[in-house]
Amino acid sequence: MAATGEAAKPRVVICGGGIIGAATAYYLARTGGPEVARRVMVVEREAPACAASGKAGGFLALDWNDSSPVGPLARLSYRLHPQLAAELREQLGRDVGYRTVHTWQVVGVEAVPAGAKGGRLRGSEALPDWVDGNVMGSSEMGDTDSTAQVHPALLTRALLDGAVAAGARLVTGCVQGLQLEAAGAEEQGRRVTGVVVDGEVLPADVAVVAMGPWSDAARAWLEGAAAPGAVPHITGQKYHSVVLRPEQPVTNHMLFTGFKYASGRTVEPEVYPRPDGTVYVCGEPQALPVPPSPAEVVVEGQLIDNIRRVAGSLASCLKEAPVEAQQACYLPCAPDSLPVIGPVPGVAGAFLATGHTCWGILNAPATGLVMAEMILEGKAKSVDVRPFAPARFVRGAAGAGARR
Ligand SMILES: Cc1cc2nc3c(=O)[nH]c(=O)nc-3n(C[C@H](O)[C@H](O)[C@H](O)COP(=O)(O)OP(=O)(O)OC[C@H]3O[C@@H](n4cnc5c(N)ncnc54)[C@H](O)[C@@H]3O)c2cc1C
Repeated sequence: MAATGEAAKPRVVICGGGIIGAATAYYLARTGGPEVARRVMVVEREAPACAASGKAGGFLALDWNDSSPVGPLARLSYRLHPQLAAELREQLGRDVGYRTVHTWQVVGVEAVPAGAKGGRLRGSEALPDWVDGNVMGSSEMGDTDSTAQVHPALLTRALLDGAVAAGARLVTGCVQGLQLEAAGAEEQGRRVTGVVVDGEVLPADVAVVAMGPWSDAARAWLEGAAAPGAVPHITGQKYHSVVLRPEQPVTNHMLFTGFKYASGRTVEPEVYPRPDGTVYVCGEPQALPVPPSPAEVVVEGQLIDNIRRVAGSLASCLKEAPVEAQQACYLPCAPDSLPVIGPVPGVAGAFLATGHTCWGILNAPATGLVMAEMILEGKAKSVDVRPFAPARFVRGAAGAGARR
């Protein structure tokens, strides 16, 4: 939908106030100018960043996706993060916790094997002093040229506030469906004319479904209108996490662990110190159905205790550290585990921006940028997003079956 003049500027409703919806709103409002910005609305059912975008780690890597089609998107996004952090500081006075980091793979155990002394073995000497627990080995995975972090909740909220400051609107409401009409005499198919929010229709030319794992609802909203199969099944994977506040300062060393409990069970929690002195630790993946709303996500005390035990075994300063948050959330996943970014075949004005799995914080800026390009200029210019097009799921499309 190219905008050539004032009359052609689309009314855009973004469904979902997670980081993908927030980044899309931010780039639309910034690149489109005030006339576009004031036609952009984000609809969020609970609160901005109430789900994975507020409960994620915020780890960023330049090249860890290079072996997948996500590589170019991730590289662009990695470059955009420090730019965004600087912009948001300058324009809104907001600190989103961006910094470059050191990243290590750490092998840890709860019970040190008989005959081996506790503490660090050979190969672990390069770790900082605060990692003083049962570490049996380590290796460097990334340095400050290739790995970084942000605070996901702060970034999501700052992006939304940036969009609002430019003229966009953020409203609280539950999106229940899309209003579609026949596209017109010359065009086949249907087009978006509105978004149904809490029983009322908000007029819209463009609807962006960016509801994380809840984007699955769009299958029903677009059924019979979209090309068959074009809206994929989006599932969620549940994770628990804690935010600890140790008494002693911790350095900017991110730890990807392979950890063995005394029971023999092995797990892979991730430990991310943050610039504010807290330490985020996540783990315990579970394949569970996504609850109807983010407000219904259940936090299981046992899984939180498990994560704290790992943290305390690796670093004594984390053992009794006060807990600032204990939480759970779902990361969104498409059938082929690739993001889903782009127009829905068969329905003009319907876009999907979801399925970012464990890299949604990293890839949000580039996703938001290309979403703005597709909506305002008719195509993505900054990076090739064809591998992520919903069109790949259309039944009969080349490779559609193979990818599922
Ligand atoms: C434990 C964990 C750690 C992670 N760590 C990292 C990391 O270190 N680095 C990284 O790059 N990625 C990480 N991720 C992945 C990242 O968090 C996600 O990919 C990303 O947050 C997804 O953002 P989203 O906007 O698509 O979805 P969400 O954050 O789920 O947001 C969707 C929003 O839509 C709203 N919504 C839902 N239904 C409706 C409706 N009907 N109407 C209106 N609004 C609705 C929800 O309330 C929610 O606010 C992690 C994920 C998890 C679970």
